[in-house]
Amino acid sequence: MADDIDVIIIGAGIAGSSCALLCARAGLSVLLIERAEQPGGKSLSGGRLYSYALADILPDFQTCAPLERRITREHFSLLTASGATTLTSDSLASESWSVLRARFDPWLAAQAEAAGTQLLCGVTVESLYLEQGEVAGVVCEGDVLRARAVVLAEGANSELAERSGLISSPTAQSVALGIKETLALDRRRIEDRFHLDENGGAAWLFSGHLCGSRSAGAFLYTNRQHLSLGVVAPLSSLRDGPAAAAKLLEMLKAHPVVRPLIHDAEVLEYGAHLVPEGGLRGLPSRRAGKGWLIIGDALGTCINTGLTIRGMDMAVLSARAAAEALIARMAEASPSLPVLYEDALAQSLLWQHLRRYRHVPSLLQNSAWYTALPAFCQGALADLTRADAQVTPPLWKILLHHGREAGLTRLAGLILRSLKCL
Ligand SMILES: Cc1cc2nc3c(=O)[nH]c(=O)nc-3n(C[C@H](O)[C@H](O)[C@H](O)COP(=O)(O)OP(=O)(O)OC[C@H]3O[C@@H](n4cnc5c(N)ncnc54)[C@H](O)[C@@H]3O)c2cc1C
Repeated sequence: MADDIDVIIIGAGIAGSSCALLCARAGLSVLLIERAEQPGGKSLSGGRLYSYALADILPDFQTCAPLERRITREHFSLLTASGATTLTSDSLASESWSVLRARFDPWLAAQAEAAGTQLLCGVTVESLYLEQGEVAGVVCEGDVLRARAVVLAEGANSELAERSGLISSPTAQSVALGIKETLALDRRRIEDRFHLDENGGAAWLFSGHLCGSRSAGAFLYTNRQHLSLGVVAPLSSLRDGPAAAAKLLEMLKAHPVVRPLIHDAEVLEYGAHLVPEGGLRGLPSRRAGKGWLIIGDALGTCINTGLTIRGMDMAVLSARAAAEALIARMAEASPSLPVLYEDALAQSLLWQHLRRYRHVPSLLQNSAWYTALPAFCQGALADLTRADAQVTPPLWKILLHHGREAGLTRLAGLILRSLKCL
């Protein structure tokens, strides 16, 4: 039976299941292999899903997927050691939901199954099976499963692709470590604490003084009865090893702005996972070859702009480009899969997003983001809102004073680069 398989997909995460769904819908025979006992069992994500990409392939997913809360309020805080400057918006431009992957991934994989995909869980793909130098299947538990094409959707820690020499190891700048806790908190308390109605949800992004002057960001999303709280820091910021990352999360939880938000919430789960953050420039130059292609985090498609983390929508977009290439490849003997995939990627929305944010990874390495900017905003706002026996200086004097204190050249440089990159 294995010889009849058109496509084997390794990993039933968002990328793998989306690709399986689209291929199966087009009539290809698809085997989706997941190492966890069920999809989502080994996935870790902050959990904010921007819906446009998935809505394109599953238009009614909002009504039937296990979603947590529709994000209706957005906060962005620039932290200093003792305080923060926070922007809040209730008029969000795009639709997004909080999700828990342990619930969401099985649902998405079930959509792929309903379209005709065979799902095999609790099985790890050990290696790729080669015939005359071409990828012709996979090896699981010593057995060879043959297919006309293999899709690597194994996530950020893409061991198989690296071990097989298809891609090289990422650099410390292009990969971050994400650490997340899921905290239980009563539904009513979530709604009171974050000023939400029954169905609304909040997303809170933190930047600034999290890892000294080194690059790092943090997030808090409200689920129905849980909070998702986490920190994401490039490996280059975590010079003291993974223990330093765990310390970062503890420092975040103890910060005076964050502490009251998680008060009395009980830690249910804790996990760490890699996040590719290299953007367009961090992608491997070879993304497909004879009999294989690579998608999602394994390819490195996640985008972190400092204001948004977009891995799941990018995973769906890459799955779509891959499915287009695979469907075309199975329909005709030529051209080759790499050519078809490169064409599909070049025309995809994924590519447009990656190009748009191609300079952001280097912008986020600028230490002024984490020190000078938060200090300037906090100082200037404190003076502007001052009402005491001292006469408040004119605005220009306040801005100049705090600008000088924070370092005028560094601040100006950061603002100019941000205008260009964001
Ligand atoms: C802390 C953190 C916060 C994040 N926050 C957000 C956010 O808020 N919004 C957002 O959009 N993105 C976020 N991301 C990024 C997002 O989670 C990823 O971009 C997304 O999950 C990528 O999907 P994927 O399908 O490519 O990989 P994954 O979701 O990692 O799925 C890969 C799958 O492959 C399976 N697998 C791996 N190897 C094998 C093997 N050899 N055999 C069989 N199966 C295998 C794994 O078990 C897994 O199920 C965050 C990531 C982290 C770590």
